[in-house]
Amino acid sequence: MTGTVHLVGAGPGAAELLTLRAARLLGEADIVFHDARVSKEILAFAARARLVAVGKRSGRFATAQRFINKQLLDAAKRYSTVVRLKGGDPMLFGRAHEEISFLRRNSIAVEIVPGVTAALAASAELQVSLTRRGEARSVAFVTPRVGAGERESRWVDAALAADTAAIYMAAGQATMIAQALIDAGKPARTPVAVVERASLPDAKVAFSTLGRLRALEAPAAPALIFVGEIYREAAAATIAGEPVLRIPSQSA
Ligand code: SAH
Repeated sequence: MTGTVHLVGAGPGAAELLTLRAARLLGEADIVFHDARVSKEILAFAARARLVAVGKRSGRFATAQRFINKQLLDAAKRYSTVVRLKGGDPMLFGRAHEEISFLRRNSIAVEIVPGVTAALAASAELQVSLTRRGEARSVAFVTPRVGAGERESRWVDAALAADTAAIYMAAGQATMIAQALIDAGKPARTPVAVVERASLPDAKVAFSTLGRLRALEAPAAPALIFVGEIYREAAAATIAGEPVLRIPSQSA
């Protein structure tokens, strides 16, 4: 008999944004393999489970994917309920594909539990809708990040094609991101929003333009950059020296 591996979305950070299904499975889990960033408050739902941190924190706490796959397989042979807990939603920039295909190849049952992805939690912080009738009818989830030896991301094309772009893994990349979009023809006055630690008590929000984004060069916290006309009113208020929301201290 082998167990089931549940790839569970932990959401953007706040424990209250876990789904009921995620909370239940954590409670039933025998073992939980979690990303390094998942909070103690969320891990507390896994009352009876063995906890194993496997996430990568920008390479600092790197566990090779192949090793994670192997750990999941070994656990499924020993335990009935194995949870792989991932930030946000497992199906977006979460390496879910690697784990699902490996486990299925090894005849292990897999279940996916969706979570609130960071772009949605960040939009809640901003209080700006990702779409707007008559103005913004498409959203692109992109990241410039690629692993060693992988083909280049075509994130710029996708960001240009969509009315609104949500750029993941953007911390520390603001200057590069702004330059790449401007070089590709996006006007420097295009409004931008930056959200750090969405859903957490110390979340930070800032508005700017592509041309001025470098002044907000982001800190190490997880951050998302949004680009689109829908941020114009909010950004205009900030540029006029009247911040509409909390602004990161870095931009002061
Ligand atoms: N699967 C995750 C994304 C993993 S990639 C999801 O669906 O959200 C990690 C990136 O997500 C970070 O670099 C950052 O861009 C973004 N992110 C995750 N949590 C965040 C948060 N609380 N606030 C802002 N961005 C966040």
